[in-house]
Amino acid sequence: MRVLHVAAEIFPLVKTGGLADVVGALPPALAALGADVRLLLPGLPAITESVLHPRLVWQGGPLFGAARVAIRLGRMPYSKLPVYIVDAPWFFRRPGSPYQSPQGVEWADNLQRFALLGWAGAHIAGGELDPAWTPTVVHTHDWHAAMTCAYLAANPAATARSVFTVHNLAYQGLFSQGDFGQLGLPSAFLHSHGIEYHGQLSFMKAGLKYARRITTVSPTYSAEIATHEFGCGLDGVIRGRRSDVSGILNGVDTAVWNPATDPSLVAPYDAQALEGKARCKAALQAQMGLAAQPDAPLFGVVSRLTSQKGLDLVLAALPALLAGGAQLALQGAGDPVLEAAFQAAADAHPGRVAVRIGYDETFAHRLIAGADLIMVPSRFEPCGLTQLYGLRYGTLPLARRVGGLADTVTDASDEALRQGSATGFLFGAATPAALESAIARALALYREPARWRAVMHQAMAQDFSWAGSAARYLELYRVMTGEPH
Ligand code: ADP
Repeated sequence: MRVLHVAAEIFPLVKTGGLADVVGALPPALAALGADVRLLLPGLPAITESVLHPRLVWQGGPLFGAARVAIRLGRMPYSKLPVYIVDAPWFFRRPGSPYQSPQGVEWADNLQRFALLGWAGAHIAGGELDPAWTPTVVHTHDWHAAMTCAYLAANPAATARSVFTVHNLAYQGLFSQGDFGQLGLPSAFLHSHGIEYHGQLSFMKAGLKYARRITTVSPTYSAEIATHEFGCGLDGVIRGRRSDVSGILNGVDTAVWNPATDPSLVAPYDAQALEGKARCKAALQAQMGLAAQPDAPLFGVVSRLTSQKGLDLVLAALPALLAGGAQLALQGAGDPVLEAAFQAAADAHPGRVAVRIGYDETFAHRLIAGADLIMVPSRFEPCGLTQLYGLRYGTLPLARRVGGLADTVTDASDEALRQGSATGFLFGAATPAALESAIARALALYREPARWRAVMHQAMAQDFSWAGSAARYLELYRVMTGEPH
């Protein structure tokens, strides 16, 4: 089984969210199961600088306005998987994120940049760019790679089957319909059955319409996106593909997220020897300027600060949290209004609320290890990774019952506590009152250390490693192609 993964970011080189974690971990997990896996990535600075032994396999142009485009084949650092790079310096050698300038403004030529990525995916699949290797399955991730599916549908040379994974339906890659001519696609694609979306072009819709199979990153999210509430305007399109849509949970990179071996921690620990976790908590309190109180329940947040993540609810519930004797440690970046609000909360409650604005991978490990709970009160959550990290680190998730959060956390109801299946705390409505009641339940359990520890043990025993999820993807590929593994 030859599989090409097409994506715009990959951990640890370029990361704006969980997508990068998945693209970094799933392909090696598939390779470990015997698949012949390659990657296709844009030639962003961090990628071109890190890929090992790149060699030219194709060059041409002009394409989408780039005078010269080269396709290079090298190997990923770390996983050593083969990787094709779309080397188009005009488009990709820029500072900032893959999608935005350092000032947070979308790059004006994202249509051309990600059309080129998709074009390259479809033409590698057609054997036109590297005749030495053609995939049987092309697996594309989010809107940035979705045009691969449209170009595949338009490329008679390509027989590969396509999978499109929706990591977050809220980011859709919408562009002006007037730019359709730049895509080089037949006019039939500019149709409501194609990539036209209410007078615009939608790259997300290219994936939803033209991929052979659609997956999302959790079973619950795959059902949610077919509803008006979670469908972001595309629920009708998704309902039209219902029998082709399925959900496969993300896994955790257990080499990167392992409290027993994590080099970021002041003291390693595991479920059998939890003393290290208390040292991690003390270190976190000291580093963040929180009062050195080993018995104060410490709530943590590591998150992008966007309305999706529901952190305004945490601000609203903060008085209740503090009244219960708890502390809050947050690391996040994003919406300036939320950044300022959390900063103000920290200023108002020194020693009890601590905030780090910014993105810091190492500190995220320390925060998740040192906290007692990790809060994920998302309005919607395709899968969510931080709650999975929390489970592994014995840091109980307190999360909203949506998407992948509902699929991965077992609420500490009386019955689940009795049965020994509880792993965290879930709440339903996206309201401060519902969050406060989950906080109250968490605080009550925290005051019963033996029962709290039992839930920690249950959480740490959960297996969300990639092997299981990768096997599910491989099965999907097998069903699509009729090939054995
Ligand atoms: P999303 O992709 O919607 O942001 P996920 O939970 O799927 O949410 O993945 C988020 C990833 O980004 C996790 O690996 C999390 O640890 C990381 N992350 C988010 N914000 C920060 C931050 N400020 N510093 C470090 N890591 C962060």
